[in-house]
Amino acid sequence: MSALLQANDLRRHYRVRSGEGFFAPKSVLRAVDGVSLRLERGRTLGLVGESGCGKSTTGKLVLGLVPPTSGTVRYRGQPLPPVGTSAWRGLRRHIQMVYQDPLGALDRRLPIGTQIEEPLSIHEQVSPVERRDRARAAMESVGLQPHQYERYPHELSGGQRQRVVLARALMTSPGLLVCDEPISALDVSIQAQVVNLLLDLQERLGIAYLFISHDLKVVRQVSHDVAVMYLGRIVEQGEAESLFATPAHPYTRALVAAIPTVNFGGGRQRERFLLQGDPPNPVNVPSGCAFHTRCPFATAQCRAETPTLQPLPGGRMVACHRVHEPALGVAA
Ligand code: SF4
Repeated sequence: MSALLQANDLRRHYRVRSGEGFFAPKSVLRAVDGVSLRLERGRTLGLVGESGCGKSTTGKLVLGLVPPTSGTVRYRGQPLPPVGTSAWRGLRRHIQMVYQDPLGALDRRLPIGTQIEEPLSIHEQVSPVERRDRARAAMESVGLQPHQYERYPHELSGGQRQRVVLARALMTSPGLLVCDEPISALDVSIQAQVVNLLLDLQERLGIAYLFISHDLKVVRQVSHDVAVMYLGRIVEQGEAESLFATPAHPYTRALVAAIPTVNFGGGRQRERFLLQGDPPNPVNVPSGCAFHTRCPFATAQCRAETPTLQPLPGGRMVACHRVHEPALGVAA
């Protein structure tokens, strides 16, 4: 059976000037470099990594907002049509986006009811009365009050605005929401409410989420599966609970070790493993394993050969030359 979403070997490369001035030579920035993802109906795939690792570009590729340099995206087995075509607009009703900044995603000049109705105006021929009724039902499903229909975005709190964005996304009954840092702009007290709302909507409506975030604590809470990105590539991928309990790739281990409070379960000691330095310039990706400049386990092989994703027991995939070595202390 085909997956809800299947991305195969996605690449998005940009030609950029590698120095100052008009005549500076051009280099290739590999924002996304060979990413494959699979997401089933009603499940959440967490996509994590530091800023600039390519996770947001991957989300845009999945939505078709950015055309890939190479690779394919299939939704329910069908290839994503070219951006801007009527076929693409037709498919976009099934794949919606939730942005980090709800105020930026909304038009400050329009009442929220009008904005929630907007996707229906684009994708369906329905009467104004039906549009209004469905908008009010979507508002209710995300916990907004009927009287807020006439309110403007600036009259709502950050959490309420994100509920408006969610209500608008739900208007076309999407099968997939791409959530790009959907709670990171909200107060901590509001974050939990929005996370609970996302979980509730998934349970009620069977929506799948591609949940893009740098916050591993939240990703662990919402995800069934997790993919970890570093400099445009996936370095580890697998079932969320097991990945957080026994991270295998040294980069994942460092990310998990940095989560403020983690119950590892089974009495496992929390690892002390701090990431050194910043990620390298993506225009000048290190040879071999891109993580070797920050990895305490790097060898000559790591500096020379690029590791590919290899399967571990339990379905985990890890791109590390040394992942099978007991001396590395990997517990996968
Ligand atoms: Fe570290 Fe080498 Fe594994 Fe890369 S391949 S993560 S440098 S041990």
